[in-house]
Amino acid sequence: MARDRKVLWHPFASLSAWEREDPPVIAGGEGVWLIDDRGRRFLDGTASLWVNILGHRHPALDRALVAQLGAIAHSTFLGATHEPAIRLAERLVELAPPGLRRVFYSDNGSTAVEVALKLAFLFQHQRRSRKGAHLPATFFSLDRSYHGDTLGAVGVGGIDRFHQVFGPLVRRSVTAPAPDCHRCPVGLSPASCRLECADIASRILEDHHREILAVILEPLLQAAGGMIVWPSGYLSKLAESCRNLDLPLILDEVATGFGRTGTLFACEQEGVIPDMLVLGKGLTGGYLPLAVTIVTEEIYQSVKKDPGTFYHGHSYTANPLGCQVALATLSSIEEEKVLEAIPPKREAVREIWRPLEALPFVVNMRFLGLVAAFDLCHTNGQPLDDPEEMAIIRDRIRNAGLLLRPLGPTLYLIPPLSISRAEIERMAGIVVEELKGLAAGGFFDKNIPHPSSR
Ligand code: PMP
Repeated sequence: MARDRKVLWHPFASLSAWEREDPPVIAGGEGVWLIDDRGRRFLDGTASLWVNILGHRHPALDRALVAQLGAIAHSTFLGATHEPAIRLAERLVELAPPGLRRVFYSDNGSTAVEVALKLAFLFQHQRRSRKGAHLPATFFSLDRSYHGDTLGAVGVGGIDRFHQVFGPLVRRSVTAPAPDCHRCPVGLSPASCRLECADIASRILEDHHREILAVILEPLLQAAGGMIVWPSGYLSKLAESCRNLDLPLILDEVATGFGRTGTLFACEQEGVIPDMLVLGKGLTGGYLPLAVTIVTEEIYQSVKKDPGTFYHGHSYTANPLGCQVALATLSSIEEEKVLEAIPPKREAVREIWRPLEALPFVVNMRFLGLVAAFDLCHTNGQPLDDPEEMAIIRDRIRNAGLLLRPLGPTLYLIPPLSISRAEIERMAGIVVEELKGLAAGGFFDKNIPHPSSR
């Protein structure tokens, strides 16, 4: 760690806090476990930030990589092609909602979002210039949305803490409030919250649709925004507004794809078919950076006509190692019946986590797929979102053998989908025990002023 602190700069880390912290130095992994250089074992409660699907050191994924290394690690995708990329694209087109037929490779979620934003611009430019219409240049996104850290993605991001400082660099999108059932004022039921949220968003969309190029959404779960679980019906309602207003819909399933919400893609749950689907993270089972933007034939044909070339690409576009491990991930999801195994595990997650709601400092419990999230508050009801307080909780849970990463006042678990019931119980047991231990010491009774009032 002393050497790390001398030369490294970690993402999303308070730099002064990092210099004091003592995080584990990960040296290995196995299933849902991470092992550090001192041999300590930790449950991977965030699936290594939502990327891991089948566990670490999965034999089929390891084999796929080794086999590809025996052929070639990488060759350019500019002016050449290769079998792994073709096979993976064919498979993704089979699995994606109908009508999504063209796969554009990039190497992480943010770049795949950039591709979608640029393609939306080119597509709309084509359509509107044909009609001699005004070409808008803003996107529609939701408050507390997160689409990545490259500048285009920041432009459609809605998390003030991450994005506000870069505001002057990017053209901001038109935003609507995120649906937020669990933050509804007391008295409003989730049903009225749903109607209210979806109607407000649709109205904003209607009022501004002439300025809008396309709509970008994280369907069902706004993960980085605080594990906001959408009320059912919200996605289909907004998709319907897009259709009525003839606006392309981009679904960013970087976090929700590959089983996170219980189905292969979140949009399946509401029968929504986007014009572009953005995938990353779990695509390679959490092994390698690879992402795709899958679009309709109409979008492809439009860009083919004008400008004829999509001037966008990356050195490691369609990296063959990534493609092979993605193919192995998709096969393993099928062969190991990973999606079929979710419903009983989902019930187990709910059954095991629900009792936590009885604790006076736990509020807003929410679930989706194997995701469980809740907010922490002081016993006086004030949200516990002081980063230092949350770091104390995180470290205590880590010392008990579970790696978590709080988001503001939210504690959440997104385990690899391959997790067993016993491991789900073990994760929950650690959280309950450590929170109770902190409560017994008066941790949640402290009347710390809310950071916003300082
Ligand atoms: N979109 C969503 C919904 C995400 O959750 C993320 C990453 N957390 C991204 C895009 C960006 O992906 P990456 O970190 O791979 O650039």
